[in-house]
Amino acid sequence: MYSGPDGEKAWPKKYPFCGGVFQSPIDFHKDILQYDSNLLPLEFIGYNVPSTDQFTLINNGHSVKMYLSPAMFIRNLPFEYTASQLHLHWGNRNKSEGSEHTVSGKHFAAELHIVHYNSEKYPDITAAMDKADGLAVLAVLLEIGPFNPSYEKIFRHFWNVKYKDQKVLVPGFNIQELLPGRLDEYYRYKGSLTTPPCYPSVLWTVFRHPVKISQEQASSNRTHFPDWCLLKNSFVVSIVIACILGVLITLAVAVWLLKKKSCKKGGEDNRGVIYKPGMYEEEEDITKI
Ligand SMILES: [Zn+2]
Repeated sequence: MYSGPDGEKAWPKKYPFCGGVFQSPIDFHKDILQYDSNLLPLEFIGYNVPSTDQFTLINNGHSVKMYLSPAMFIRNLPFEYTASQLHLHWGNRNKSEGSEHTVSGKHFAAELHIVHYNSEKYPDITAAMDKADGLAVLAVLLEIGPFNPSYEKIFRHFWNVKYKDQKVLVPGFNIQELLPGRLDEYYRYKGSLTTPPCYPSVLWTVFRHPVKISQEQASSNRTHFPDWCLLKNSFVVSIVIACILGVLITLAVAVWLLKKKSCKKGGEDNRGVIYKPGMYEEEEDITKI
C-alpha cells in the first residue's frame, strides 16, 4: 500500500509511466481472462543453488531484495531471461493483505516477485529495465496456512536487515521451493513494474495456485519492516542514538559540576578550620600588646 503525499496517487506526476497503459498490478477476473493453449510451462535452469553459494539479502531503504545467481534463468519465454533478484510485498500494519495482484478482487496475504531480465538482448538489468521486452517477473501469491520451511530460509534473516544499507548472506537453496507445486497454471500478461519508475517492461507470470505461509511468518515480516524501518535508515537511527548519548553526557557533566560545587563548599569550611591557627596568632599578638 502506498499512501500519503508521496503515495500511489502522486506517482504519475513524478514518474510519467505510472499513469500510463500496461500498468501493473491488475485484477484477474473472468472478463479479462482468456485461455491460451500456446503457453508452455516454464523451465527453471540453475534454480537449485548449492548451500556453498550465497545470496546477498539487502535493505535498500525501499524494500528488502535478495540478489540471485546469474546462473539462474528461465526457458520457454520468447527470450531467455536471467534471474536478478527477488523481493516480497507483504502490506503493513494497516493493511494485512499485501499482495499486489488480486484474483476476482481478492487480495492475498503477500506476494513474492522473482525478477529476471532479457539476457539474450541486454547486458544487465539496468539496460533492460526500461525496454518493452526487458523484464520477466514471476509472481507467487502467498496465503495464510501452515508454517513454510522454504520461505523461512529467507525470512529468518530479515531481522539482520531491518535498516537501510544493511546486508546479510543467505546460504543457497532450491529457489523452485518458493514456487507452487502446479507450475503449468498461471496468468500471463504484458505489464509494468508495480512501483516507480513503473516502466511498461514486464512480461508477468502470476502463478494461479497460491503458496501458504503461516500467520506468524506473515506478521513477523510486517513487524520486522514497519513503514518507518524502511523509510528511515540506519543514519537516522545513529542520529537518535547520538542525541540520547548527548543528553546522557550533558546530564553526567551537570551532575559532576554540581558535585564539584558541593565539594568546593566543603573546602571553604575546611579553610575555616585552617584559619584557626591564624586566630591563635592574632590572640598571641593581642597578648603581646
Ligand atoms: Zn515487486
